[in-house]
Amino acid sequence: MKRKFETIAIRTQLEKSQYQEHSIPLYLTSSYAFQSAEEGAALFSGVSDGYMYSRVSNPNSDDFAIKLALLEGAEAGIATASGMSAIFSTFAALLKSGDHIIASKSIFGSSHHVIENILPDWGIEYSFVNIKDEAAWNKAFKQHTKLVFLESPANPTLDLIDMQWLANLCHQNDALLVVDNCFATPYLQQPVSLGADIVVHSATKFLDGQGRVMGGAILSSKKIIEKCHSFIQKSGPTLSPFNSWMLSKSLETLAVRMDRHCDNALALATYLESHPEIEQVRYPFLPSFEQYELAKRQMNKGGGLVSCIIKGGVERGRKFLNSLELHSLTANLGDTRSIATHPASTTHSKLSSAQQEEVGIIPGLLRFSVGLEHIDDIIADVEQALTKSKL
Ligand SMILES: *Cc1c(COP(=O)(O)O)cnc(C)c1O
Repeated sequence: MKRKFETIAIRTQLEKSQYQEHSIPLYLTSSYAFQSAEEGAALFSGVSDGYMYSRVSNPNSDDFAIKLALLEGAEAGIATASGMSAIFSTFAALLKSGDHIIASKSIFGSSHHVIENILPDWGIEYSFVNIKDEAAWNKAFKQHTKLVFLESPANPTLDLIDMQWLANLCHQNDALLVVDNCFATPYLQQPVSLGADIVVHSATKFLDGQGRVMGGAILSSKKIIEKCHSFIQKSGPTLSPFNSWMLSKSLETLAVRMDRHCDNALALATYLESHPEIEQVRYPFLPSFEQYELAKRQMNKGGGLVSCIIKGGVERGRKFLNSLELHSLTANLGDTRSIATHPASTTHSKLSSAQQEEVGIIPGLLRFSVGLEHIDDIIADVEQALTKSKL
């Protein structure tokens, strides 16, 4: 019988050492010694496989990447120093001057910046598309389109895209579909099974889930991971053994943590929907969500993020944040601790108001990364802040 998600996450482990350790040990070493000059020569020429130098590969990052690839249903994987280095390394390994990339407008701010400000200097063209505009996706492909990049659920509107549909469109156009699966994690959705070619992660978020370490990963076919590895081992955004070890342990509890994040998020979303000071609530597993049917088809649960629009615009949003007592005010997400953000005055404040509007950032938009505290305390904090912030 094929083992289930939780079992794979807990029981996948590299071969044990002579000590028969029960849990994966930390290999805190920058290099590995050769038994002989001949062995060194064989390792360097690639004739034999083995560890040489931790920038090239190390047992802890292999352990983390192999396990995550299994959870994503991908053939292979590689760990990177952060989510952004996973995204950037994917672009750098697979794009060259003269190529074209299509990206959803609703993506993480730094991903947007890389595509708009760094890739063009290297002769790579881009087009941004509104994630929900099917006609625009169809029209965006060009002869030289090589990659299509998106997040679903998207940041911070939680809009979704039918990945199966888009993967087909990409393949008809000889382009690869890259999905940033940070918000859902493989526990809630596996883009590869829906036709995506590459999955990238910021492991800093739900995968670690405890706000401790930076990390990232790329999961794909062996052939594509080989290309990414070639770029990463030479250019250096390798994940450290210590962070890899932490993240491998984090994956063991991903399923139970995500279950609780999702239960708490659905309860908060339901509460917000009934509150007279809230204009609109966006959560993929609320029946009122416009893409609810797609969410049910594509995801196992709704995820840990909830967004809503508070009455009173920017001023009220700011006042609400300042009235919170339990929630943390930080730009991070996917932590045990509940976090509230007001994108218009924080994460998306650099965009003009026209650009904000284009990516769905309404002045009163609040985003909650719902943590693992008791749901009664989470709701009570939101309730008192809603009362206190009334204009
Ligand atoms: C945080 C984040 C990233 C970037 O990850 P880092 O680990 O901070 O480099 C990429 N995509 C999404 C959706 C994110 O939330």
